[in-house]
Amino acid sequence: MGYTALCANHPCTFIVGANSFSKQGQMSIYCVRYFLHAISKPLLASITSIKSESCKHKTFSDLSTRPLLSYNDGKWKKTPPGDVKAMVWVLTRRKILDLITWNSKKMGTNLNHIGVLTSGGDAPGMNAAIRAVVRACTHYGIKVSGIQEGYQGLIDGNMDEMDARSVAHIINRGGTILQSARCLQFREKKGREKAHDNLKANDIDALIIIGGDGSFTGANLFSQEFDIPVVGIPGTIDNDIYGTDFTLGYDTALNTVVEAIDKIRDTATSHNRLFFIECMGRDAGFIALNAGIAGGATEILIPEDNKTLDDVVNKLEYSRSAKKTSNIVLVAEGDQLGDTFKLAEETQKKLPDHDIRVSVLGHIQRGGNPTCADRVLGSRLGVAAVEQLLHGHSGIMVGLRNDTVTTETLHDAITKKPGINRNLMHVADIVSL
Ligand code: ADP
Repeated sequence: MGYTALCANHPCTFIVGANSFSKQGQMSIYCVRYFLHAISKPLLASITSIKSESCKHKTFSDLSTRPLLSYNDGKWKKTPPGDVKAMVWVLTRRKILDLITWNSKKMGTNLNHIGVLTSGGDAPGMNAAIRAVVRACTHYGIKVSGIQEGYQGLIDGNMDEMDARSVAHIINRGGTILQSARCLQFREKKGREKAHDNLKANDIDALIIIGGDGSFTGANLFSQEFDIPVVGIPGTIDNDIYGTDFTLGYDTALNTVVEAIDKIRDTATSHNRLFFIECMGRDAGFIALNAGIAGGATEILIPEDNKTLDDVVNKLEYSRSAKKTSNIVLVAEGDQLGDTFKLAEETQKKLPDHDIRVSVLGHIQRGGNPTCADRVLGSRLGVAAVEQLLHGHSGIMVGLRNDTVTTETLHDAITKKPGINRNLMHVADIVSL
């Protein structure tokens, strides 16, 4: 594959090694950007775009006065501005990687090898994030290893190097190819020391942790105890992490719950029944509130609210008087009214003429192919996590706020609570009449 820099006044051609880049056009473009730094400013100013067969035109208006670089006698050298008028390069993959390593140092770090793991409850979209981490590392010329079974794999030294091809065909898969585990040893200092020893033994000098608040608590401790930069990616269907509008897996779980409600609704309507449906959400009602609105629930019970049994009964009596032919009460598992079967029993006592059933959705909410939103989120956060490490940051989580990738300290991510949207509760009350 060849690249040609189009110059208005100077003939200036960049040829990137044909055999090295057929699968990694993005990397080539990245390299070419840095080749351009080797050109004198006037010439740089005259370059308007780079053309390639596989990548869209890139403009270079963002190129500023970076250190100039040229390749001579087998070495990359800084070159004074103005010395270079035009260049022709034929590059091998090795030389490109040397150049990118130079760049990663320039970004403020000496990172050569990043480890990535998934920990705690699995969530759809984790694979998309793993894939993005691995490919971002490839893009920046950094080695990357996948650590199996979360913190347990760190302690057992269960890790393997990955490359862009080892994450092919996973963006559409639920669960996590690295597998996850709950690891008691990591809660102890001794276990974390062992994990640190294994990282050193494998020359891994930074970690990306994909998981929920438990995993981040471990990650935060680890980053404080050892000189290993750590960045977290929020992965949990519950959406209960402070510092991001969405966690990986949440959107997929929402859609699963809505689909389940739709199906249960069919039988509820056919038999004029009242269903109590329990969904996940031990500490947070994000799933219940949003899926309840989307599924047309008559009543939604979440931990952030304090509805009583009488509130539920009154709503159902009103619903019957309003001639509703089916009723769904969606209950987050952590709601203060407690066990959903007991709640149904208590309701039955107060409404003896209702035909009441209970359905607990359980683990189907964790599985399934990730939605488009979760795939895109995983991709964005995976790339951002690598870039944060390259910029020398640690002890943080990458997240998404107002459709912009942001960061939050791990400390705040685990100690602060994301608030439920009260306006959604207001909407739920109105649309369920
Ligand atoms: P999630 O990350 O989905 O919230 P868990 O709460 O099970 O899942 O946490 C996942 C793992 O994170 C635990 O198995 C443990 O290894 C680690 N972890 C959780 N809490 C702590 C803690 N207080 N100290 C150290 N490690 C922890």
